[in-house]
Amino acid sequence: MAKKWVYLFDEIAEAEAYTGSWDGVRSLLGGKGSGLADMTRAGVPVPSGFTVTTEACNQFSASGKFPEGMWAQELAALQEVEKRTGKKFGNPDNPLLVSCRSGAKFSMPGMMDTVLNIGLTDKTAEGMVKLTGNPRFVYDSYRRLVEMFGTVVLGIADEAFEEPLKEHKEKKGYKLDTEMTAEDWKAMACSFKGVVKKEKGFDFPQDPVKQLELATEAVFKSWNGKRAIDYRRATNIPDDLGTAVNIVTMVFGNMGEDSGTGVAFTRNPSTGERKMYGDYLLNAQGEDVVAGIRNTDPIENMVKRMPEVYHQFMGITARLEKHYQEMQDVEFTIERGRLWMLQTRNGKRTAKAAVKIAVDMAKEGLISKDVAVLRVTPENVDTLLHPQFDEKAKKAAEKTGAFFAKGVNASPGAAVGQAYFDADTAEKMAKDNKQAVIMVRPFTKPDDVHGMIASKGVLTSEGGATSHAAVVARQFGIPCVVGAAGITIDLEKRIMEVNGKAVKEGEWISVDGTTGEVFIGQIKTIEPKIEEQAELLTILNWADEICARDGIRKAPRGWPRRGLQVWANADYPKDARRARSYGAVGIGLCRTEHMFFETERLPIVQRMILAKTSAERTEALNELLPYQRKDFDGLFEAMDGYPVIIRLIDPPLHEFMPDEEKLFEEVVTMRVKGEIEGLKEKEDLLVAIKSMHESNPMMGLRGVRLSIAMPEIVEMQVRAIFEAAADCTLRKIVVKPEVMIPLTGTVKELEWIQPRLERIAKAVMEEKEVNFTYKFGTMIEIPRACVTAAEIAKLAEFFSFGTNDLTQMTFGYSRDDAERNFLVTYVEQKILPKNPFQTLDREGVGKLMEWAILEGRKTRPELEVGICGEHGGDPESIEWCHIIGNNYVSCSPFRVPIARLAAAHMAMKGSGKSIAEDK
Ligand code: PEP
Ligand code: MG
Repeated sequence: MAKKWVYLFDEIAEAEAYTGSWDGVRSLLGGKGSGLADMTRAGVPVPSGFTVTTEACNQFSASGKFPEGMWAQELAALQEVEKRTGKKFGNPDNPLLVSCRSGAKFSMPGMMDTVLNIGLTDKTAEGMVKLTGNPRFVYDSYRRLVEMFGTVVLGIADEAFEEPLKEHKEKKGYKLDTEMTAEDWKAMACSFKGVVKKEKGFDFPQDPVKQLELATEAVFKSWNGKRAIDYRRATNIPDDLGTAVNIVTMVFGNMGEDSGTGVAFTRNPSTGERKMYGDYLLNAQGEDVVAGIRNTDPIENMVKRMPEVYHQFMGITARLEKHYQEMQDVEFTIERGRLWMLQTRNGKRTAKAAVKIAVDMAKEGLISKDVAVLRVTPENVDTLLHPQFDEKAKKAAEKTGAFFAKGVNASPGAAVGQAYFDADTAEKMAKDNKQAVIMVRPFTKPDDVHGMIASKGVLTSEGGATSHAAVVARQFGIPCVVGAAGITIDLEKRIMEVNGKAVKEGEWISVDGTTGEVFIGQIKTIEPKIEEQAELLTILNWADEICARDGIRKAPRGWPRRGLQVWANADYPKDARRARSYGAVGIGLCRTEHMFFETERLPIVQRMILAKTSAERTEALNELLPYQRKDFDGLFEAMDGYPVIIRLIDPPLHEFMPDEEKLFEEVVTMRVKGEIEGLKEKEDLLVAIKSMHESNPMMGLRGVRLSIAMPEIVEMQVRAIFEAAADCTLRKIVVKPEVMIPLTGTVKELEWIQPRLERIAKAVMEEKEVNFTYKFGTMIEIPRACVTAAEIAKLAEFFSFGTNDLTQMTFGYSRDDAERNFLVTYVEQKILPKNPFQTLDREGVGKLMEWAILEGRKTRPELEVGICGEHGGDPESIEWCHIIGNNYVSCSPFRVPIARLAAAHMAMKGSGKSIAEDK
């Protein structure tokens, strides 16, 4: 049988049989095509039509021509539509008009092409006038076809059509399109045909079949247009999906006051509220609403104008939401009182709405808790923890007259940046000059997306809640205000004004996407409070429940059978408290050296470093001990009942000393000026610092090596840890200290240092007469440690991957310089898929980790394994940690909620299979 390239809307069963799944149908027919077919099956009023498949598009992209048999099938389907509608393509007596619409598997709003009113020619236009008695509507439709065909199919610039229309309106003294008469539109249709002839050298095709053929081809080609490619890059949509082409019988919303068109969401896409949200326009065509050019009416007002249609619409959308178990974004047209649904798809939404809708739908029983958790992305959580304006600072700004304008609050969040008036400049200033940018436009078009993505916020003077700017900003979590109608933007003078107040290009503004307000200048922002976000907390609790399910990871004895736990990296009690409030169930890394830098401690630390004898050093360390004990006491108290991993000193000692160059300058100046007092001390210090100099300090005397060279420091630290733990135990706080030795490369290092430290631990417990459980373990941050993990696990009771150093040492890239020097180029040139210091390199670093776990657990099946490098908060890296059998990930307190969600997603998606099973 010949390959099927074309499916009528009621041939969904065939598409299902061919692809074997609903996902397959969506891949084949695209989101729009499968939605139209599915609605047809459900008895929803959908105009007759058919879909040319994404497979045909891919064949076209590869060969530059329609695949064999496709065009014949398209014509046959067209005949079928003619039969069903009783109309005929190109026949002036009762002409069939169709639209030709793109539609990929994942929606790419406005990124690809669409042509409406195909089938109109000089002859059919006349026929339509006779039929409808409405020449104004017919010639308006005709000029729209010539214009769309000219720009989309023939590649003529928009301005070529905009100019004659502007001139005509000026000549007639019209301000609005609605003032144009039938004669005016007829004249415009004629003048637009002239534009085509002038620009292309041939006439606008009067053969409807030719129009259809060229439009189909143009939609296929738009898959590989710049806009579409940019959008796919930004949203990670694969290039090989292709777009389907939907040919749909035209229905008209511009046939008088009993006609109209609109777009709506079944729940509020900005807040998530369970209430229909959208706009419609009477006597208008679809693009008038979407482009945000004419001011629309809220959907609820439709009940007054067309009560029957309104109730039918509410019934259909309620059914659609139930059917898809998702918030729907629908397009509809009313032609002479009859409702037609033109599209339904899962609606894009803000992070806030995503969380609220997921929780509400689970509570309504529409979806399960697991599905609700899957519906919220780690990026959503990230956005919700983004800054908002400080209310006090905003009030103060209002008082000083900084308020500039108010528009529609299209995408929430606070953005502060310098205003730029076009997408290219906005992108350039953000990328090249590293500025915080707010892109300001009258309205946005798909060509502006690159500027929006580079900006901190977006402001438009036109358009509504469903305009292009609003939809795109919501999708990318960019704060956005649209339709700030008071603003006039002068794109030539590069200035915008409201009531005598002006903002020039490059000046600072603050945009509040939550309230719709815009201010001149910079307003302070604050971090949002997680405890005030009830729905987010619900989702995170459900995520924790999923991870806590026993058996969600299938693994052999000793290996974790639950999902990942999330711990936090915290050095101070206040960080630990924040980590707890964000849901961390342990501290995975306390970097003890940070405490050495505090002003009153640093001189003691320097004295300790410069000590000539062991006694001098011990004296200084004895002074440091009470400070450290207090630090640890606070941590244990904040983490009552949860494990706390404290890492012994790691960095090279010169980091605690004054800057060598600066000191050298001071010494030289003193010598030149003949200042004697204090000179000797400075000279001695300089000698000492010089003696510590290493060409490559990150590979030098640090980590466990430093502990072996100067054991007194870590001995003091272990004493401080255990004294604090003992004191806390006496205060009925449950402590679980874990002492972590950094940068181990050979088990011999542990054999040298660990027993000494364990002796101190025991001694303190005996002195204080208390008992608690504790562990000694190591960081795994050197490739050799991974390779010899079985040996290392003989001593180490836990492993924690220090993937910052492990990445540095595996690649041989300096973690301090690589980004600045070459890493950006490497990513741009696709030598590396991503920055390996942000997202784990699975093939290299990840493989070493996997090996280390397998080997380590051969020696010690119950070995506790974590990660505390920056990767611990990155969802993709968290996925890898789940797969290889980590017990937990540890990340900055601020990323804990994101990690909790990512861990739950992995627990469900990975359906539990652990790598250990395959070995
Ligand atoms: C690491 O190397 O990943 C780590 C957590 O330690 P630090 O960043 O302190 O070297
Ligand atoms: Mg490290």
